[in-house]
Amino acid sequence: MSASRIIRLPPLPSIRDLIKLYKLRAMKELSQNFLMEPRLISRIVRSAGSVKDCEVCEVGPGPGNITRSIIQNMPSRVLIIEKDKRFTPSLELLAESSPVPLELIFGDVMNFNLEQMFNEDNKMEWEDKCPQIHLIGNLPFNVKSAWRYGRVRMTLTFQKEVAERMAAPIMTRERSRLSVMCQNWCRVEHKFNIPGRAFIPKPNVDVGVVRLTPLKKPIIDLPFNIIEKVIRSVFSFRQKHCIRGVETLFPKPVREQLASELLTAAAIEPSTRPFQLTVSEFGRICEAYISICKEKPDYMKYNYRGQKSDDNWPFVEINNSDSTENI
Ligand code: SAM
Repeated sequence: MSASRIIRLPPLPSIRDLIKLYKLRAMKELSQNFLMEPRLISRIVRSAGSVKDCEVCEVGPGPGNITRSIIQNMPSRVLIIEKDKRFTPSLELLAESSPVPLELIFGDVMNFNLEQMFNEDNKMEWEDKCPQIHLIGNLPFNVKSAWRYGRVRMTLTFQKEVAERMAAPIMTRERSRLSVMCQNWCRVEHKFNIPGRAFIPKPNVDVGVVRLTPLKKPIIDLPFNIIEKVIRSVFSFRQKHCIRGVETLFPKPVREQLASELLTAAAIEPSTRPFQLTVSEFGRICEAYISICKEKPDYMKYNYRGQKSDDNWPFVEINNSDSTENI
């Protein structure tokens, strides 16, 4: 980014000095690892896309190193949510010198409702373009309430291996249940990795920066519990032919026959491996599964792992979490 597009903050003590001054020893239980490298910090913010004139919510600002970079990119407003009150002095110092409004909220993001937090003028319909709102955090978190404003983009860090699995395309070693689940609802972009040594204290893992943009419509637009069950079952034998996992959707006496019928209806070659299947192909498997279960709804309750024996099925344990109600 050229210097002219970045605003300068008034001189502030360095983050390193603030950490020393306020004796901010990192707390492991709050996943505290501070990123000190300015080049990597600004790369995280750039990964979000342009935040100019946008509202940005940063979760877990810590001493405010990423916050400084966000401010420099000229958002209309910054909202920060931090659980650890020890960061109050350094964040207040930043709020006082920030040329853009910076609001501090101390609390746990997991208990936080973002429903009223952003400007109503920035609200977009879900099918519209993404709103001028970004969520950024050097830690993974979940704030469903933000979706009231439309398809709010999130730029988050994960353990590198998790980031790789989230974004993995078909045919790769990292392709997994997590890849299909994430890619069904979001465009997943694994932007870059940060070596563990860039953090203080150094974590045992490297970190991946991921941008998640919710899709207008999920690729598989079916009830969550069914999608989750089908993907989990198919990946239960990741290296085997996919028919092996599909079989686990059905009780033993009918397993082979129905798995074969299901894959024929879904137009999937039974010898395909789970990591070779696209999200749309998983969608066809879900649809074929639903259509078999419409004939015999008890199959939807079948739980391969929860079964002691299939002999008397369906009169043994059933997993009631699955249901055909909202099909
Ligand atoms: N943003 C700083 C950086 O990149 O150097 C600090 C990142 S540190 C990995 C994670 C931060 O999130 C810490 O400041 C921690 O206190 C905060 N945090 C952890 N869990 C949180 C939660 N549930 N709600 C809000 N903040 C949280």
